[in-house]
Amino acid sequence: MDVMIHNTGWIEVVCGPMFSGKSEELIRRLRRAMIARKRVQVFKPVIDQRYSDDEIVSHADARLSAIVVKDATEILSKLDWRTQVIGVDEANFMGPELVRVASQLADAGKQVIAAGLDTDYLGRPFTPIPELLCLAEAITKTLAICMRCGNPAKHTQRLVESEDLIVVGAAGMYEARCRRCFEPGAPRQEVLPFLRPPGKDAAR
Ligand SMILES: [Zn+2]
Repeated sequence: MDVMIHNTGWIEVVCGPMFSGKSEELIRRLRRAMIARKRVQVFKPVIDQRYSDDEIVSHADARLSAIVVKDATEILSKLDWRTQVIGVDEANFMGPELVRVASQLADAGKQVIAAGLDTDYLGRPFTPIPELLCLAEAITKTLAICMRCGNPAKHTQRLVESEDLIVVGAAGMYEARCRRCFEPGAPRQEVLPFLRPPGKDAAR
């Protein structure tokens, strides 16, 4: 968003699958705010300890120091109220309260920039991102590149077997897939006997 009316808050959301450059884009926007001499604070959920405890880090290794919180409500208690721009990375792990918190901050005149996964490993909308999109002034959907066919990819394909919603990891555990190549729930699907086509296996 290039035009800003003085003292007006808003919500920006950057969403897409893993490996689509969300954190990179978040860091880029926050750096621009810093260059504009705005007061910036960055928050990330405690669950994301992939690379660094108190930084947000993109897959391309851009980094920015961040305050680690257990959920969205803790953003309010750790916020310096002089802060003008509030970055939230891995927003999909902040919990449902992020919707209320982001709205409250925007209503108070703050610029909120949240980045997160919009769908989970089964391709389902990932709360609270869908709700946040409805309330946002600006939305950017980032796409990755499908690791199977090279098309633009909107899905995060899980490569390890787990039924947990959250399995934190990066390369090797997940890859980006396009709509056509995405296999929701795989590899779990392959090991469920009733999903095997009837034939030799069923007769055994
Ligand atoms: Zn593909």
